[in-house]
Amino acid sequence: MVAEVQKTFRCPGCLGRDVFVFFENHHAPVFCNVLWEDRQAAIASPRAAIRLGFCPRCQLIYNVDFDASLLDYSKQYENSLHYSNHFQKYAEDLACRLVKRHHLYNKDVIEIGCGQGDFLALLASAGENRGVGFDPSFDLTRASTTTQRLVKVVPEFYSVDHTEYPADIICCRQVLEHVISPLKFLKSIRKLIGERYETIAFFEVPNAMYTLRDKGIWDIIYEHCSYFTPQSLTNLFFRAGFEVMEVGEQYGGQFITLEARPARVKRKTPSNIKWITGEPANLIDEFRRIYHEKTSQWNLLLANLKKQYHRIAIWGAGSKGITFLNTLNISHKTVPYVVDVNPFKHGRYLTGMGQKIVPPIFLQQYIPQALILMNPIYQEEIRETMRKLDLNAEILLA
Ligand SMILES: [Zn+2]
Repeated sequence: MVAEVQKTFRCPGCLGRDVFVFFENHHAPVFCNVLWEDRQAAIASPRAAIRLGFCPRCQLIYNVDFDASLLDYSKQYENSLHYSNHFQKYAEDLACRLVKRHHLYNKDVIEIGCGQGDFLALLASAGENRGVGFDPSFDLTRASTTTQRLVKVVPEFYSVDHTEYPADIICCRQVLEHVISPLKFLKSIRKLIGERYETIAFFEVPNAMYTLRDKGIWDIIYEHCSYFTPQSLTNLFFRAGFEVMEVGEQYGGQFITLEARPARVKRKTPSNIKWITGEPANLIDEFRRIYHEKTSQWNLLLANLKKQYHRIAIWGAGSKGITFLNTLNISHKTVPYVVDVNPFKHGRYLTGMGQKIVPPIFLQQYIPQALILMNPIYQEEIRETMRKLDLNAEILLA
């Protein structure tokens, strides 16, 4: 008898070979933030496998089946959270905190993956700083006049071609999880910083602990190659030649922020590195059960809701909403509309199940009896909107 050959994976965080797969979804929608002009195209959009591997050595979680060629980050990519007051307030507070903490007054600020430059403009105005952003999806027609006045955006990936731009701080928010080789990416930034040891690196990524510990299972999406915990992110920066100054959970535990600067002393060889390990390993063992439990509960709940109500709507046309609808296989015939505050999403269709995206005001016409909120952090904001619209639906949290 020939033993079955187990394929071994090489961890993109530490190059270790002890990675094991602990979660599989073979029909995940490839695009979570691409909008569709018609329902048929949305339903026919491609699907691919997510198989999450865990590296016990550096704690990194990543999709071992990720195929970058399936994705195309073009201009139709729409994931701005800027239209939520809650998110806007978070971004403003974060910019002020960074400016005060690192004395960023009349300094040079770089943001990698700056989107339409909104956060960069906040950093620029909070300390009269000079801001330069890099993002190939930047669209000048969508940038606000304030942003255009305050900062410069280069519509390219940040690379060795841009060493002429000095930086007292390099910011990078919600980007690293999309990078197929995060270690290589951080090492290239470390190299670009050179001997300017006072340069601060500020990174923000989704928090995998929110998925594992707080059962935020709707955050597992194809567009994310890696899923970081505070431990694995710290390990990664350490290995890339940085000294981590602070790492913490933000935004109701949904994000991790990390501040680092270049390490002055040469690091030990990889085999001597003391990896930070801990809680995630235990949660990994539990995850399959937690995932099954939560999806089963929702299937039951939805069956009951359908018996009770004729008009059910979803609030949140981002990745959580798409994953929720696709995982639970909720047809547009059962739930035809998804509400979102981002005006660039309105009138378009949701990947996979083909729901139409509508503005909050549309609910006055539809009068939902039940409303399922995709992100609990916006609960107060949404309840307030519902009160203003004089609507009274049963509100549930996904
Ligand atoms: Zn690893």
